[in-house]
Amino acid sequence: MTSITDTNKTAIARLANEQLQARIQGQVIAPDDPRYNEMRAAWNLTVDQHPALIVVVKSAADMAQTVRFAHTADLQVAVQATGHGVVRPADGSVLIITSQFTEVSVNAEARTAWVSAGTKWGKVLEQTQAVGLAPLLGSSPGVGAIGYTLGGGLGWLARKYGLSIDSVNCFDVITSDGRIIEASETQNSDLFWGLRGGGGGLGVVTGMEIRLYPITSIYGGTLAYPVEQARKVFQRYREWIATASDELTSSIGIMNVPPAPVFPEPLRGKTIVTVRGGFCGPLEQGEVLLKFWRDWQTPLMDDFQVLPFAQVAQISKDPLEPSAGVSSSVWLNNLNDEFVATLLEYAVARGGPSPLIAAEIRHTGGAIARVDPRANVFGHREAPHVLQMLGLGQTSEMQAAFRQRAAQFKQALQPYTLGVYLNFMSGEEARTHARDAFSAEAYQRLQTIKAKYDPDNCFSHSYDLAAADSTHNN
Ligand SMILES: Cc1cc2nc3c(=O)[nH]c(=O)nc-3n(C[C@H](O)[C@H](O)[C@H](O)COP(=O)(O)OP(=O)(O)OC[C@H]3O[C@@H](n4cnc5c(N)ncnc54)[C@H](O)[C@@H]3O)c2cc1C
Repeated sequence: MTSITDTNKTAIARLANEQLQARIQGQVIAPDDPRYNEMRAAWNLTVDQHPALIVVVKSAADMAQTVRFAHTADLQVAVQATGHGVVRPADGSVLIITSQFTEVSVNAEARTAWVSAGTKWGKVLEQTQAVGLAPLLGSSPGVGAIGYTLGGGLGWLARKYGLSIDSVNCFDVITSDGRIIEASETQNSDLFWGLRGGGGGLGVVTGMEIRLYPITSIYGGTLAYPVEQARKVFQRYREWIATASDELTSSIGIMNVPPAPVFPEPLRGKTIVTVRGGFCGPLEQGEVLLKFWRDWQTPLMDDFQVLPFAQVAQISKDPLEPSAGVSSSVWLNNLNDEFVATLLEYAVARGGPSPLIAAEIRHTGGAIARVDPRANVFGHREAPHVLQMLGLGQTSEMQAAFRQRAAQFKQALQPYTLGVYLNFMSGEEARTHARDAFSAEAYQRLQTIKAKYDPDNCFSHSYDLAAADSTHNN
């Protein structure tokens, strides 16, 4: 089974309607269904996928039935919660949409939450903040908790509490033959090791238990300076983070602000340097930390302030509406002056719009680097910074221009780079660069685990973990 003909498609749809629909609470949606076009869409508008079948699930049982159906029909399975991080379009496969399976249950005493497959971080945040606790979400509450976590999960509490994967107690997982198993330190510990950073290629996760932290406010926001000040801002930033505690997780970046009304007037159409972050220690110390910048010179923008943690998304102000974005990433070994010169050469728009809308470097280390690198598959924990390049991809020409600029930029950055962070890479690049995200030893072990739990590469829509001779390794 490699390509699906029209006759096959009709047969699959008929089989699914006869066999699968009766066994699930959710809906089976075939290509001729009026809901098909709406349901095959992803949050990222660059994705244009044509699954053989869409199954909108309501429960873990629905998910297991769907995987069993796909296994019997010899079809591959893709999973989508929101479509923020589609690695490979679900063409010709069964696409499990989890967005209607969004149960969250919080155990305030144990400081844990159970999060089901389709839950966005926003819902987890709301329910945990209600009892004074915080999850390790990222910059956007619209991102799916499970997809984010399978890739690592780097948010504004990361230097204090680590990556999202470092706070997972267990996952419930469906294997390619439809079995539901637990993956934890004591059950299927090899799978648990691989799921924490290895993406969705090992199994379909129906839910996870995560640990929570007692954070209800944060001192956070963004400073913006004119790009002409970039070298001085980088120099000052290096000084700032050299002495700051792990309670500060921050970033510095270049942004070519589009001339669009959604951006504040003083920034619109300009290239700026941004310093962003969140301080989760005593809030009055956050104010003191910012004095370092405020005593220096007046920025174009300064919205650092005490934020209820429920509003942590105010720090990055990521778009919540579906967008056409492309991104790429590398871990960095330092931010010295030579690095800054290269960054400015490739990231700053000159004489017209740039294919790169932003290049943001997050300060990592802290609790991320204190975890034993063998604890799970996640790689490059020792790196002090990670760079994400972002572009707009409304047309295939724009996507190609971004890819070309990002490739040249990464080539020039080679002396400073250590590997890639897959959550910050989009589409096919994430899939084909999986090897660069891990140590060689960890990647090899991941392939062995993949061969054990998904020998036929039924879950081939995530990072490429399959050995070269795998059945569906296309
Ligand atoms: C606006 C924006 C902000 C972001 N901010 C951050 C950030 O601050 N930090 C960070 O680390 N990352 C961040 N990311 C990256 C994000 O974490 C990844 O794109 C992530 O994969 C999105 O997960 P999702 O479930 O929302 O997306 P989806 O596209 O639905 O899923 C993404 C991937 O996860 C797999 N997957 C999803 N659910 C399951 C499941 N139940 N079982 C098995 N596999 C599954 C999918 O198959 C797919 O490969 C951001 C992305 C965007 C677009």
